[in-house]
Amino acid sequence: SRDATSAMLERIEKDNVKFLRLQFTDLLGMPKNVAIPVKQAEKALTGGIGFDGSSIEGFVRIEESDMVLKPDLSTYTLLPWRSRECAEARFVCDVYLANGRPFEGDPRYVLRRAMEDAAKDGYVFNTGPELEFFLFKMLDGRPTTQFQDVGGYFDLAPTDLAEDVRREIILALTEMGFEIEASHHEVAESQHEIDFKYSDALHTADNVITFKFAVKTMALMRGLHASFMAKPIYGICGSGMHTNCSLAKDGVNAFFDPDAPLQLSETCMHFIAGLLKHARAITRVANPTINSYKRLVPGYEAPCYVSWSASNRSTLVRVPAPRGNSTRVEFRSPDPTCNPYLAFAAMLTAGMEGVRQKIEPPAGVDKNIYHMTPEERRRAGIETLPGDLAEAHQALLADDLICRALGPHVVEALTNVANAEWDAYRTMVHPWELDRYLATY
Ligand code: ADP
Ligand code: MG
Ligand code: MG
Ligand code: MG
Ligand code: MG
Repeated sequence: SRDATSAMLERIEKDNVKFLRLQFTDLLGMPKNVAIPVKQAEKALTGGIGFDGSSIEGFVRIEESDMVLKPDLSTYTLLPWRSRECAEARFVCDVYLANGRPFEGDPRYVLRRAMEDAAKDGYVFNTGPELEFFLFKMLDGRPTTQFQDVGGYFDLAPTDLAEDVRREIILALTEMGFEIEASHHEVAESQHEIDFKYSDALHTADNVITFKFAVKTMALMRGLHASFMAKPIYGICGSGMHTNCSLAKDGVNAFFDPDAPLQLSETCMHFIAGLLKHARAITRVANPTINSYKRLVPGYEAPCYVSWSASNRSTLVRVPAPRGNSTRVEFRSPDPTCNPYLAFAAMLTAGMEGVRQKIEPPAGVDKNIYHMTPEERRRAGIETLPGDLAEAHQALLADDLICRALGPHVVEALTNVANAEWDAYRTMVHPWELDRYLATY
């Protein structure tokens, strides 16, 4: 509305903003932005700012290359690492075609569409992700895989530098409006986790993008590289993005039922059933890189099997202990290389199908699945997650519901990316092969 626009323009002036960054994400979840001087603010807020979408990954379609960015006013944030005198602010934007229609390849639109569909039944999808990452040393301006705290003496404790960086990251995120709930050093050396408060999935996806960007920026200012790669180092834990999910109706958590078994509502059980039913297809967007599948292996608390449990952490879906408003299911496969808009859209659509079709989940698995024999797993009906990107992509193509949720434009673009990545990977001769075969044969 005109009022909201003029209030925002006043705020921009009051905050001394000199540059605006109009942010959106490509198919791979990479943040892109167009920076505009503040003189253009009124134009941007009223009509949007045009750009050429033809060189953005997953946007390519020459006949549709004239695109327009429209800022979402609720996402206004000052960038804390810029000076107050010459402030810089960013908006997350929605992408439109020149003809005024939403662009189907905009990941934010894909999630919006899934959220609007759930809203028909009165549901809001809330997500709270737990992003893990490594802080690595830089050498000559390039990232390495050397730990920040390498060297035997400090094996169990992060060095002062890592602690300082984490504190600075948290201060910056707090200034940007994040409500940080917890932060801790993770299982592996140099690995960290910072948890922020859940929100509706659209704003959480915006937050995930902002979070990664802010963490990388703050680390770089200390000469470190923050990596969200899924499995940077063989033999130690990879980095996950466990995603806590719940549905709310009329502001009330719809997964909580004090009188039900485990105090989990039927809606919750059906949602779990939908997630499990479509888990293999969701994997394509929750774990989108070749390297993602090096994390989904036994032995490191990452899931490999399609199952759920109210108690154990070896399952794909876990129900954490808190109840009441905190009742949620934790989907443990996603990693932080995912495009959060696409991953959340796929998860929501799967869960909503469970709710609408009243699908019953299989029995919860309270044993450690890694200790079960293949025969025991088969009898319990426990499927395996895809073992690599090619298999995950086939699982996506075989799943009409998830393909429809993503839309034909995105599925086609994902197909192009998967084929190119897989071909590049499978034709490469890797160091492992040389170690294994060069001397022997
Ligand atoms: P874990 O016990 O698996 O380590 P964390 O405590 O690290 O879990 O993270 C919990 C996440 O769940 C936080 O992001 C939190 O905001 C989120 N969360 C809490 N309640 C809900 C809810 N009702 N719906 C979605 N997410 C929630
Ligand atoms: Mg956690
Ligand atoms: Mg915790
Ligand atoms: Mg963790
Ligand atoms: Mg967790």
